[in-house]
Amino acid sequence: MPDPQRNALFLDAGAASVQRCARCGAVTPELDAAAECARCGGLLEIVHATPDAHGAALLALFGLRSGMKPTSEPSGVWRYRELVMPSAKEPVSHPEGNTPLLARRTIQAFAGSASLLLKHEGQNPTGSFKDRGMTVAVTQAKRIGARAVACASTGNTSASLAAYAAHAGIPALVFVPRGQIALGKLAQSLAYGARTLLVDGDFDACLRLARDASRELGVYLVNSINPWRVEGQKTIVFEMLQQLGYDAPDWIALPAGNLGNTSAFGKALREAFALGLITRVPRLLAVQAAGAAPFASSFAKHFSTHEPVHAETLATAIKIGDPASWDRAVRAITETNGVVTSASDAEILDAKAVIDASGVGCEPASAASVAGVRQLRDRGVIGEHERVVAVLTGHVLKDPGIIQYYHQEMEPRPARANRPVEIGASLTEVERVLKSATSDGWGDLAKSDE
Ligand SMILES: [Zn+2]
Repeated sequence: MPDPQRNALFLDAGAASVQRCARCGAVTPELDAAAECARCGGLLEIVHATPDAHGAALLALFGLRSGMKPTSEPSGVWRYRELVMPSAKEPVSHPEGNTPLLARRTIQAFAGSASLLLKHEGQNPTGSFKDRGMTVAVTQAKRIGARAVACASTGNTSASLAAYAAHAGIPALVFVPRGQIALGKLAQSLAYGARTLLVDGDFDACLRLARDASRELGVYLVNSINPWRVEGQKTIVFEMLQQLGYDAPDWIALPAGNLGNTSAFGKALREAFALGLITRVPRLLAVQAAGAAPFASSFAKHFSTHEPVHAETLATAIKIGDPASWDRAVRAITETNGVVTSASDAEILDAKAVIDASGVGCEPASAASVAGVRQLRDRGVIGEHERVVAVLTGHVLKDPGIIQYYHQEMEPRPARANRPVEIGASLTEVERVLKSATSDGWGDLAKSDE
């Protein structure tokens, strides 16, 4: 049935949430397990009832559930349940969310943005933002009685799915591109007990396979096209806004691969504005890796083109040539007067080295957001005094291989490489090394001790 309120942001108060096709408007009940529209194959989105509370009353409700009080909700996702999955009775939660907003002077100086804050989603239970969507998708899997759950992944999704499926007691099947998944992520998937299939193909091939498996084999698909994942990922924005006292920043920068987060952020801002949580909407800055930048290319042509590319980048989490959430992301960028840009692997690794050396640390794709902010500050698109929040999507330990490559092996040696030094087991050797070092303060220390 086409929805009579086809473009309504919310349903009438008290109504059950529905899944609505973004393309043709067909509506299915919230407990329907199909991964896409049965009528036209379009992507589904979730539409909730108008919450009972609005504006200040809704802010107060979220505030009541924050912190460490008897009324607190320990999950930074389920705290916002009216806008995530209002009818959930028993969420599968670790818990997740509650990630910090960090200010580091060295990163601000590098990016040229004195007010830059970092929303570190790598501090979720499995080390990436994926946990926010996965707690909702696996809760849904449990509600519909799924026999098994599956996803295609560049790594973080499979790690997260494996952990949440284990928690829920549901078997998990993950499809990852062989030889293209970072060590930390593969290790997690195996450790948490998912059936892990290393596919001879790229991410896009894995996604096709997972979709086929869901259609033919009846396993519940929890890829980023799963509309419930989007609902969970919206809470990155809700939590950030709450941390800022609902004084929205001017910009929110994020890495962009499959465009699930770009879509989720757009929906979150749309809803937050409509419900009176914020009075103005921040601009989104979506940053792709230059070798996997079909969305950035399209943006440069006012979204008049949509051409997949063969993806090539060291930032494996955003190594995606044919993003699944394209249309939803176009809407998010358009509605927020957003910008899409791309950063080269060298720019991404440079930004990562600065973020890592500040003690914060992140995986390569995460650093794209900071690289993008630096670029737009250079170009004068982001103003000197504009307030920016950059989202870091994954933990530094997700990809130890790239750290080893950058600091120990890369030639020519990057300016920020921190090469380890092999020495004999004597104090003389230690002193020799400390005296020869000049750039990091150790040389002075060694001399003053003489
Ligand atoms: Zn449809």
